[in-house]
Amino acid sequence: SSDIQKHFEIVEHIGKGAYGSVFEIKSKTDKKVYALKVVPLSSDKDKERMSREVEVLAQLQHPNIVRYHTSWHLKNEGNCTEIDPNFQCLCIQVEYCDQTLKDFIENMSYYDDQNELEIERRRILGEILDGVKYIHEENIMHRDLTPRNIFLSKSGTVKIGDFGIARTVYLTDGITAIGTIYDENLTSSFGTKLYCAPEVLNCDNSYDNRVDLYNLGLIIFEMWYPFQTQMEKSKSFDDIKSLSIKIPDPFEPEVIKEILIGLL
Ligand code: ATP
Ligand code: MG
Ligand code: MG
Repeated sequence: SSDIQKHFEIVEHIGKGAYGSVFEIKSKTDKKVYALKVVPLSSDKDKERMSREVEVLAQLQHPNIVRYHTSWHLKNEGNCTEIDPNFQCLCIQVEYCDQTLKDFIENMSYYDDQNELEIERRRILGEILDGVKYIHEENIMHRDLTPRNIFLSKSGTVKIGDFGIARTVYLTDGITAIGTIYDENLTSSFGTKLYCAPEVLNCDNSYDNRVDLYNLGLIIFEMWYPFQTQMEKSKSFDDIKSLSIKIPDPFEPEVIKEILIGLL
């Protein structure tokens, strides 16, 4: 849109998500590169969902969370195919991230030095844990932690992103955190069912931020046990997600295995 181009140079159309498009943009004023998520607000449901994503993002400020800059509404300018004159888009400007954890995992085989790889993996894991700990301290559950939603900045710092289905954890008695009831968002069309905690898949009507810990377990598994094929991945995931938590033997190092079992 020309309105965006007034202030930014569009460098690249990065991707199309479930709802909107994400662009790499360069600000004409500060000359810095950002990511811009543009989401059409076609229904009240869209509006509600997106305002929640923005509110969560704006609430969170941490070195390991994708940094939120600003957001604004874009009015239909007539060059839009929508007929509804009230049609608008929501633009969310956030920190640009070079890579995702998925890219890192796919490139692990290029490490010649296994020691170097191990140090890097542990640093990344530590930063993911710092970010998740912070999110939980803010009474938020992310609910969609996957290698595609964990980003890495140019300098390699972990940046947790995509708070599209994050929710507040409701404190009922001050001690127990009870999550939201079954939410169609989490189990439909997201493609991340693979990472879902069993209590979410079973549609339990209450769960809490431990669903994120389960996801972390699966992510750790993938970081220390890379797969050659998608088929191998789904087989191994079936195994470790089973009640007996069948972990491949051997699985090294022992300390990571213990953390993994604890999380699952
Ligand atoms: P999906 O359903 O694929 O998870 P989504 O609608 O939830 O998509 P995002 O995950 O936020 O949207 O982003 C969609 C695409 O844009 C992905 O390919 C993602 O890698 C890319 N992307 C999102 N945020 C950033 C960012 N801050 N920097 C760089 N790329 C980003
Ligand atoms: Mg995503
Ligand atoms: Mg998403």
